[in-house]
Amino acid sequence: MSNSDYSSRRILEIEACTNCRICAEVCPAVQATGDGKLSGVYRVSQLKNILRSRTAFWSKLFRYKGPTASEWKDFSQTVFSCTLCGACQEVCPSGIHLKELWLEVRQDLKRSLYYPEKIDTIQENLDESHNVFGEDNEERVDWVEECRDPPDSGFCQDTADIVYFTGCVSSFYPLAQQIPVALAEMFQIADVNFTLLGQDEWCCGFPLLGAGLDALVEDFINHNMAMVEQKAANTVVFSCPSCYRMWQERYPYRGKFSIAHTTEFLLRLVRENRLNFKGSPMKVTYHDPCDLGRGAREFENARLLIQSVPEVELIELENNRENCRCCGGGGNLEMIDAALSAKITERKIKEILATGAQAVITSCQQCVRTITTWVRRNEVPIQVFDITRFIRRALQR
Ligand code: SF4
Ligand code: SF4
Repeated sequence: MSNSDYSSRRILEIEACTNCRICAEVCPAVQATGDGKLSGVYRVSQLKNILRSRTAFWSKLFRYKGPTASEWKDFSQTVFSCTLCGACQEVCPSGIHLKELWLEVRQDLKRSLYYPEKIDTIQENLDESHNVFGEDNEERVDWVEECRDPPDSGFCQDTADIVYFTGCVSSFYPLAQQIPVALAEMFQIADVNFTLLGQDEWCCGFPLLGAGLDALVEDFINHNMAMVEQKAANTVVFSCPSCYRMWQERYPYRGKFSIAHTTEFLLRLVRENRLNFKGSPMKVTYHDPCDLGRGAREFENARLLIQSVPEVELIELENNRENCRCCGGGGNLEMIDAALSAKITERKIKEILATGAQAVITSCQQCVRTITTWVRRNEVPIQVFDITRFIRRALQR
């Protein structure tokens, strides 16, 4: 247990909390459960007490010895019942970097040994297999067999202009594997010289941060950087917003190559007339993934891409762009508390259905997985697309 898990900036920031509760009003976990203990404001007030109890001056002054084991357990439960969606940070009038704070608290709880058992599974999977599912990492490129016309190389070349960093969910989860299949086919159509890293791609490391395992991230960063540099590529493309955001924030790639999310890269190909559409009449709505929208502040590329498809009508969700509500799939929540994750998804589906759209499009394999699972289980009459698949089906070939 240590205050050193917190940056001095964060410790100063939380003292600025005015208890206004605006963060609770936008929190999807609070909205889904009505439980105020899942809110940012509750957590910040608890954390202030914990940090003070570890400081000799304050603990003497207030004779407060810190939380009991059962209080630690309750605190841990609220911290890990969070999707790390960043909606609270977006609205906090005191400018507290709440999302970063939640990551620092998870690190503290991991070291303090008050954390959910599932965290050990995540750690074991990543230690042993370098992917979040604990699958054999050689199977990372099995999805290539689903492509219409894969080359003998299986899209793995010694060098290439572009590296496509596929991410764990799209590599291994069957429903999400349609995303890399669609993207690889579009790269072929647009004559993009690209390569995969194959079994040399390791998890980007974001699930380690979400699990409070910050200290283990460095190995993953160093490995992935070395593998990309070997390919002599000028750009790394990501279909996963969390991988993309992780690279933006933590990887030392600047000055070596650039990075882009698929929404930006595909829009570039469309503008260069390298992807040509047939008409595809449909009313759609768009869900901004938390890490791409609030995280990377990329809101318009996806909308411009959707609107470049003839005969498509885009209807905005009531809460869109920086106010978009989480789908329930972030922050490892699905692994830690699947029931809470599903409750958050249910609210999201209601908002989607209120638009009257025939399909919901998003730009994240985890959102697709979360929303599709709920829609299928509850037989909801709406189509769910990742933007990559949506664009692929609208192409002339
Ligand atoms: S990050 Fe999202 S889920 Fe977590 S406390 Fe903030 S608003 Fe709630
Ligand atoms: S929005 Fe910010 S200032 Fe207001 S209660 Fe939440 S953390 Fe405190």
